[in-house]
Amino acid sequence: MRATTIHAPRDIRVSDVDDPTITAPTDAVIKVTAGCICGSDLWPYRGENNIDAGSTIGHECVGVVEEVGSEVTSFRPGDFVIVPFDHCDNTCAHCRAGVQSACTNLGFTASGQAEYALVTQAEGSLVKTDGMPDASLIPSLLTLSDVMATGWHAAVTAGVRAGGTAVVVGDGAVGLCGVLAAHVMGAEKVVALSRHEPRQEIARHFGATHIVPERDDAATEALMEITEGVGADAVLECVGTDQAMKTAFAVARPGATVGFVGVPHGVELPIRRMFQRNVGLAGGMAPVRRYLPELLKLVQEGTIDPGLVFDLTLPLDQVADGYRAMDERRAIKVLIQP
Ligand SMILES: [Zn+2]
Ligand SMILES: [Zn+2]
Repeated sequence: MRATTIHAPRDIRVSDVDDPTITAPTDAVIKVTAGCICGSDLWPYRGENNIDAGSTIGHECVGVVEEVGSEVTSFRPGDFVIVPFDHCDNTCAHCRAGVQSACTNLGFTASGQAEYALVTQAEGSLVKTDGMPDASLIPSLLTLSDVMATGWHAAVTAGVRAGGTAVVVGDGAVGLCGVLAAHVMGAEKVVALSRHEPRQEIARHFGATHIVPERDDAATEALMEITEGVGADAVLECVGTDQAMKTAFAVARPGATVGFVGVPHGVELPIRRMFQRNVGLAGGMAPVRRYLPELLKLVQEGTIDPGLVFDLTLPLDQVADGYRAMDERRAIKVLIQP
């Protein structure tokens, strides 16, 4: 099959690789309808993560079941499914506790930007739609494989509540989905930190009541003004850098929780401030499967349209252009059509 592969920093290619095949009874092979590039794909792209030269890349996709293993009984070839980037059995102790991202049989989508992808725990991971969805719904359904579920996880773990104030640090696709999640959960003030006009526009569409374009101390000052000197009831940290985490803790009110979903890179926690102000940290890698049924319903009934985060669609052959566009922040999120 044709698949996106990474060979070195900034070296993305479309290569011919072996088709995924069923090797375990819990496997399923998915024919990818749409895949996409994730902000976290930019870490290896920029050389900040180790690269296994020639390996496939891409962990977000939706598609049609092509083949299933013998233990997969709820899905059959032809079903349209959402593929959580983190695969789980949905039956072990951690899954039952709602931490499917720490499943004892955890697996990951490894070729989401390709013609086919393998799901290692199909029965526990996949969620199907009733028949083939309308093409207009595909982008929103695709966000459920990661970014919308991840933004939702940030809001859940930050303890966003109706009538409260939520601050979202990060204006990537996850941050924007976090804005949408906080809005749906009923936060009265939803503040998006963003200095980029197109992202501000989507944030407003998703329910942001305030936009703060400042950074660092100036951002903290602006946020304290919006919260009348109190600080935010809930903070969603959707970047993963030390600067983002510092801002998150600076604006959290005493007793609040920072929900973090940005993959941490070089973060040092302000543990003394956390102690003195009773500010907690929760979150981590999103248990996508936990939220999928609820989020699928919200998309299907038209309550949320997270697919708006896609501002560029490219055929698989041009996937390298998609990485460049996201790296240079010319695109928020890129949808790839195999
Ligand atoms: Zn992702
Ligand atoms: Zn499990």
